[in-house]
Amino acid sequence: MSGVSMVGVTKMYGQVKALDHVSIDVCEGELLALLGPSGCGKTTLLRCVAGLERPDRGTVEIGDADMTAVPTRDRPIGMVFQSYALFPNLTVRQNIAFPLEVRHRPRTEVSARVDELLELVHLTSQADRYPKQISGGQAQRCALGRALAPNPQVLLLDEPLSALDALVRGRLRDEIRRIQQLVGITAIYVTHDQSEAMAIADRVAVMNAGRVEQIAAPADLYEMPATQFSAKFVGSRNAVELAVLDGKVGIPGSFHIDAPGGSNGHALAFFRPEDVQVSRGNTGPGMDARVELKVFLGATTRLHLVGEADGQPIAIFGDLPSRQARLIDEGEMVRVDVDPDHVHAFPI
Ligand code: ATP
Repeated sequence: MSGVSMVGVTKMYGQVKALDHVSIDVCEGELLALLGPSGCGKTTLLRCVAGLERPDRGTVEIGDADMTAVPTRDRPIGMVFQSYALFPNLTVRQNIAFPLEVRHRPRTEVSARVDELLELVHLTSQADRYPKQISGGQAQRCALGRALAPNPQVLLLDEPLSALDALVRGRLRDEIRRIQQLVGITAIYVTHDQSEAMAIADRVAVMNAGRVEQIAAPADLYEMPATQFSAKFVGSRNAVELAVLDGKVGIPGSFHIDAPGGSNGHALAFFRPEDVQVSRGNTGPGMDARVELKVFLGATTRLHLVGEADGQPIAIFGDLPSRQARLIDEGEMVRVDVDPDHVHAFPI
């Protein structure tokens, strides 16, 4: 198995800079998710690794071998696409066997390998069905088996769950992770869904407008956004504009933290709804706020809170365990406090 090294990868489509000096090292056996909004360049980057696009500048290495000019068919990769891309006239077994047959592997070897893969992707009992006779989740497992058949060094997955409904998506996500870890294969996984990226990846590369904003393990990305874009894109956060006073930003009665370097009068403070503490009445610490709306979300309830800081109204979301939120009424005045350790401020 090998890692993947992308160095200074740049790709233009006419005037559009789809990739702008992207450098990422994917370690051997690691699953790296490329996460970002539509059009940020994640598919283009994956296609550069696959050899389906040629970078204008930069290099792509797999293991120690420079692949930049190597055609797709000669790269040690397997690909899984959103659309499954199965051959409709071949059964599940024949689809998985296909990449081995085009490589003219001996018949006994093909048969043994396909049996092994059918078991790995849990499709043994569907082996003789055609793609139209299986579900979307099964089709994607077949595509995964086919991608792994020739024992590639790197697995590339482009939004593999996007065409599936939510329940199947969650199950197949965990299944892909199980298989990737079992096989120990290096993998790059493109998604625009942050919870999917964080659930499946060892590390997540957050992309924005052709550049990498941050590469971090899911928990670090969640807790320590390196840039304003990461803070906005990963997780749902409150984003509150606050005045900088004496080098500090804060909410009166609640937190005060050092203003970020480069702040000019105002800064944008990010914090999560789950880090907002709400106490009833006017005895607890924090800012006075009114509960404008309660939204029941199951285990938690989101409170829409409106208070005042520096003479300006500020709106904050706070998530409470639903059992606790039941005691609070819409229209009620509460105290709202935020732990300063969980506030990240960026200059505006
Ligand atoms: P999505 O999640 O919507 O697939 P993405 O992050 O994968 O988006 P890319 O498909 O890599 O983004 O596209 C990056 C940029 O390059 C976009 O502005 C897109 O419009 C542009 N682009 C991609 N492919 C081409 C192409 N073949 N010709 C012209 N422009 C392209």
